[in-house]
Amino acid sequence: MIHSVPELRQGWLETCGATSGTLPPVGARAAVPELCTFLNRCPVRIDGLCNRTAPPRRSLDNGSEMLCHHDAAQLIKTQRGLAAQTTGAYA
Ligand code: SF4
Repeated sequence: MIHSVPELRQGWLETCGATSGTLPPVGARAAVPELCTFLNRCPVRIDGLCNRTAPPRRSLDNGSEMLCHHDAAQLIKTQRGLAAQTTGAYA
């Protein structure tokens, strides 16, 4: 999700995903209005899940909540992996 946050620069929307490498391919979106709003630019999206089913609400240890098919531990792992791939991308 962190990699899905818009950057404050012109042209970001047209190139989003480039800073995270190639986005995982996903099939057609289901006609479900509650699908994740990050789907089109999420580098850890899951085909058959994120594009078909609304993400569940998850509570974090700090009391925050998020909507995602990944749990907090999975997201931390994916962020570490993406950070290693994109070091310097935000500099
Ligand atoms: S629900 Fe899917 S698309 Fe949305 S942030 Fe989580 S992994 Fe990414």
